[in-house]
Amino acid sequence: MALKAEIVSIGSELTSGWSLDTNAPWLSRALGELGIAAAWHATIGDDMADHVAAFRIAAERADLVLTTGGLGPTQDDLVREALAKTAGVGLREDAESLAAIEALFARRHRAMSPRNRLQALLPEGAEALPNPVGTAPGVWMTIGRAVFAAMPGVPNEMTRMFAEQVVPRLRQRHWVERVIVHRKIALFGKGESDVEADALDLTARGRVPEVGITASQATISFRIKGEGLTQEAAWAQTEETARTIRDRFGPLVLGEGAVDVAEALVEQLKRTGATLATAESCTGGLIAHMITAIPGVSPYYPGGVVSYANQAKTDMLGVPAELIRAHGAVSAEVAAAMASGARERFGADVAISATGVAGPDGGTAEKPVGLVHLGLATADGVQTRRLEIGPEQPRDIIQRRSAKQAMNWVRVTLLERPDREASR
Ligand code: ATP
Repeated sequence: MALKAEIVSIGSELTSGWSLDTNAPWLSRALGELGIAAAWHATIGDDMADHVAAFRIAAERADLVLTTGGLGPTQDDLVREALAKTAGVGLREDAESLAAIEALFARRHRAMSPRNRLQALLPEGAEALPNPVGTAPGVWMTIGRAVFAAMPGVPNEMTRMFAEQVVPRLRQRHWVERVIVHRKIALFGKGESDVEADALDLTARGRVPEVGITASQATISFRIKGEGLTQEAAWAQTEETARTIRDRFGPLVLGEGAVDVAEALVEQLKRTGATLATAESCTGGLIAHMITAIPGVSPYYPGGVVSYANQAKTDMLGVPAELIRAHGAVSAEVAAAMASGARERFGADVAISATGVAGPDGGTAEKPVGLVHLGLATADGVQTRRLEIGPEQPRDIIQRRSAKQAMNWVRVTLLERPDREASR
């Protein structure tokens, strides 16, 4: 017999329609991935009789009942007492939970109100589910034929308690018979439709494992869904497909998980030991910002220059004024000189530059909004690239895309270099 779960969302803010229940769908999906179907969703307001009535029904029909909300310290938080009433038992104070609540208030340097003490109460026979990110511990107990897991309403407290406390207990009972894993491989440097056209065999309906494609801010992601009896088996099912994607798309692959271009670039800097400097005009420091957002980059990023005005390009990067006069600030020549200047001034192995028309004004027939020149200087010399992001794009998209294209160019260049150990 397949297990049946019921999810009970608690709070008058939900029944009154003022707040949207995101916990129940999240839990349904999470249970589904573990092979447990949620057969019922119930939503109840802050009323004791309604709590008890709903818990009684759930205890009779479900194997597993997950509740969220109603564990707070206020008078309308009724779950602990309602569970005790439904089970026909009393409440006891749980010393460990009380100590955890006291410790949390001490850490936050806040006085603990006597009401918070109530959050350490547990129905007789229940077990506390520790809550490392909030005050309210959860409750784990059996009532009727069902196991109840009562969790806080605050989504990040709930999801963590579910993953760390509830799922291991479900495994212990051998209730989790199948595991689903989702792997995500991120690509950058080609459009979604081009990538899709090269992956029709992978994304075909009914293929095992299933592969989907999504795109967000020019990063394309393959999602591979693996299934198995264990985490390892589910993962193993995805391996060959993951390898195929990596082999087929080679340098387009940024990596696995929620990686972005900056992260993948920093990974290459660390791998090769190369240092990078930046010279930015139209991106206004965005490249520098995205790179420095990645922790641990300091040995590889000496710095960059935001040389917005022509004079600054000359003063800070040594771009000859005649060059700017002859070709204009938005030109391959100036991009090249900016990159060379940055490489030299920062003593970096590699330097990247960007100069362009970010719009919405300032475009001409010859140099439209969205035209960006990138320069890449290495020990081998300097190269340039011309991007046409499109005059219809808003300024922030033009800046973002140029920054990402610039970082990706450096990343792909570094891919060809050996590991730092090998190059010593
Ligand atoms: P805590 O004691 O940790 O605050 P609690 O169990 O008392 O948690 P509630 O007071 O019921 O939780 O809800 C706290 C907040 O969590 C709500 O104001 C709401 O923002 C959010 N929340 C509660 N239930 C849900 C839900 N089902 N979906 C999404 N958000 C929810």
